Amino acid sequence: MKQNFDRIVGGYLKFRNKYVLGDRSIMEDLADYGQKPQVMVVACCDSRVDPALVMQCHPGELFVVRNLANIVPPYQKDGAIHGVSAALEFGVRFLQVKHLILLGHSQCGGIQSLVQEAGADHNDFIDRWVSIIKSCRADAITADECARSALHHSYENALSFPWIKEKVESGELLLHRWFFDIKTGIILSYQEDQQAYIPLTQDGQV
Ligand SMILES: [Zn+2]
Repeated sequence: MKQNFDRIVGGYLKFRNKYVLGDRSIMEDLADYGQKPQVMVVACCDSRVDPALVMQCHPGELFVVRNLANIVPPYQKDGAIHGVSAALEFGVRFLQVKHLILLGHSQCGGIQSLVQEAGADHNDFIDRWVSIIKSCRADAITADECARSALHHSYENALSFPWIKEKVESGELLLHRWFFDIKTGIILSYQEDQQAYIPLTQDGQV
């Protein structure tokens, strides 16, 4: 346990050496000129699915919001507090990202709890949160199928935000559904024209 923690602290020191110290400080530029990420990602909290690591990004490249089972909730301007929606608004309206990636993954614990449906009240917050995408259970046999189906649900929810829909329709924003397989490391991208998930290639990024 301590070794693990020491490694994390060591990682921080490496980060400072690489990105902060020296003449060409990336962080100094980002502080002076602000962030201008082109890509926003909605990802799961899962420790195996860190978007910046999977896509080998540098600081300033990805604007990320993570939540259990990478869910986009529907647009609800109802006076309640909406953390994911606030992040979407900041990324899409104010940072004006060009790509919004909904990044699902295999073996998702949040999706598994939805599929197994262990019953109400066995946890404080999880069941209620993942119930946003409960319709994905209907057309899925396995948890991974449910996770891929849930991406469609989140996709539709994303389009319920008027400023996302407007930018997608005008071509200013590209909305992607990606599914990361933990064991193989392969990302599958949903192709609307084929109505199927196919392995992501350089061409498939746009
Ligand atoms: Zn997950």
